[in-house]
Amino acid sequence: MAGEGYLRRTAITRPILSDEQQEMLEQTLSEWKTACNIASYIGWNVGETRKTRLQSLAYDDVRDRTRLGSQHAILAIHQAAAALAGVEEIEGLDEDYDTSRPMFTSDTLTYDARTMTLFDDDSVSLATAGTGARIRCDLALPDDETGYQRQYLDDERWELTESTLSKRNGDWYLHLGFRKPKPESRDETKPGDEDRTVLGVDLGIVNIATTSTAYFASGRELRHRHREFDRIRSGLQRTGTRSAHQTIQRLSGREHRCVRQTLHEIVNNILREAIDYDCTVIAVENLTHIRERAPPAKEFHQWAHRKLVDLLEYKAESEGIQVAFVSPEYTSQRCPECGHTSAENRVRQATFECENCGATANADYVGAKNIGWRYVRRGQQSSRRTGDSRLALKSGTVQPNRGFIPAD
Ligand SMILES: [Zn+2]
Repeated sequence: MAGEGYLRRTAITRPILSDEQQEMLEQTLSEWKTACNIASYIGWNVGETRKTRLQSLAYDDVRDRTRLGSQHAILAIHQAAAALAGVEEIEGLDEDYDTSRPMFTSDTLTYDARTMTLFDDDSVSLATAGTGARIRCDLALPDDETGYQRQYLDDERWELTESTLSKRNGDWYLHLGFRKPKPESRDETKPGDEDRTVLGVDLGIVNIATTSTAYFASGRELRHRHREFDRIRSGLQRTGTRSAHQTIQRLSGREHRCVRQTLHEIVNNILREAIDYDCTVIAVENLTHIRERAPPAKEFHQWAHRKLVDLLEYKAESEGIQVAFVSPEYTSQRCPECGHTSAENRVRQATFECENCGATANADYVGAKNIGWRYVRRGQQSSRRTGDSRLALKSGTVQPNRGFIPAD
């Protein structure tokens, strides 16, 4: 597949436009839609969905009948080809499906590095239809230096690629597409070599996430927020009016954004632990297990755990760190000190106490160590076994055959 060797990210920004610039972009949008529709019409009639073929068929017509520049004309034809290919795919899946020619009506147009330039002062120049005139405008970005857009805008390793300009409810948005080659894995060992340092992560409720290096992300704020939103929602549900329904929807959107923000921070902290401790693998529990055994009341936490793991996978990838899944069975019942596993080991929700050796520890911390340990052991038992993987702990590492090794 094309572009498989790249990581892709989108930074959402808003261009700050004068009235005159808005008018030029309105015209460009209109020409863009016309161009896409011309190409769609030609492709539909001759049954052509390949980009370069459709380009040679439709280019002259698009240039003659619109005021788009050459690169924009090509991008519009490619857009039409992609839509036609999508229709063909649906037809292939279901021959009874009544397909029709793709029509372009939405206020969205594509830019690429040849039709758009990004400058260091957070301004952008955009090609417009007509005399080849470009407009230059500032981008509205969060004042906060930590706005997520900065990591792409300020880092030369991220290359500007296909982006979209759109108009929604009178507002303009620019979704800047960035890409960079997928990093070499941090894991410098060869495939089949199990010499890795593993960070174990436990997902829970008291602590939404706990690492084997003793980072605790409290779940208190999330639980509190969720209860609060729930309380307001159920009050509104009782009124049952249409406007109450709309308010519920808005609240849910706001809750999701709140939770996402918190989860982003937690995931960043987990990744920092992994990097600080030179881990190349993060082991987390396989969430399908939770889904099967948890009561409906835990739905919110399942959702939050799922989001957290998705974010972790997504962000770990760009650090060259692998996220691996292990079965969580008995990970809350096994004593990390002596290995004794029993349901009796867990006396209270928050505290683990081993009935065999008497060791006590925070229950989530025990879970995190056991999750990581399970991954380490799995490597040892596989056909490629070397047994040299190690679990990262706060003060050192532990290995199956060598035990605990304190950090320098
Ligand atoms: Zn024990």
